[in-house]
Amino acid sequence: MRKALVAGNWKMNGSMASNRELLSALKEAIPGSDAVDVAVCPPAVYLPDVRAQLQGGSIAVGGQDCSDETSGAYTGEIAAGMLKEIGCEYVIVGHSERRARQREDSDWVARKFIAAQAAGLVPILCVGEQLADREAGQTEAVVAEQLDAVLDQAGVAAFERGVVAYEPVWAIGTGLTATPEQAAEVHRFIRDRVAARDSSVAGGLRILYGGSVKADNAAGLFALPDIDGGLIGGASLDAGSFVAIVNAAG
Ligand code: 13P
Repeated sequence: MRKALVAGNWKMNGSMASNRELLSALKEAIPGSDAVDVAVCPPAVYLPDVRAQLQGGSIAVGGQDCSDETSGAYTGEIAAGMLKEIGCEYVIVGHSERRARQREDSDWVARKFIAAQAAGLVPILCVGEQLADREAGQTEAVVAEQLDAVLDQAGVAAFERGVVAYEPVWAIGTGLTATPEQAAEVHRFIRDRVAARDSSVAGGLRILYGGSVKADNAAGLFALPDIDGGLIGGASLDAGSFVAIVNAAG
């Protein structure tokens, strides 16, 4: 039985004051649960402060990105080991916003996935097609390329300590959610593709859905057999919405 995971990707949002308010509401409303793991991924500068505020509670902390390198002349980058040192458990790699803006390709993302695991973090690998890909019937081809790069470089066993997030790019921040059928189809495709290499790893792999998950559509998505939780953007900034989404998963 896979334990659900709901992770809030705050993206480039927040302030010391608003973080404090949000976290105190979350701490109060989200007790530890056997059914769902919960994490928040704030901007890197806030990580130590967020970690300190969540100390001793059930909500984990994750980074939004890490370097594929361990140290050195990489201005602006943050090593996975640094995230681990300050208490992170997770790190998102390959988010579509970074694939687009920082031009991260799948090989690079695979190296980040490997670096994250080497540092003891659980990477959350984001995959997903653009609208044009879907319209051209290329959804599976795009997701396969993004997934295979990591399977090839890291090996399928690495997915025992990893998470995949399917985030159709056209559904991110747009209010357009994939229908449960559309999401289910791609989630099944991802699990089958991992299963082709190792069925027991595939059976234990948590595959999250991301893209305009809100309090009112979360339960329908999380009820599907291959959807093991969510990666939540906008709605993770609102305590009431995020708590409702966590409850929908648990
Ligand atoms: P939204 O929930 O705002 O659509 O963002 C999803 C996302 O990109 C999470 O990583």
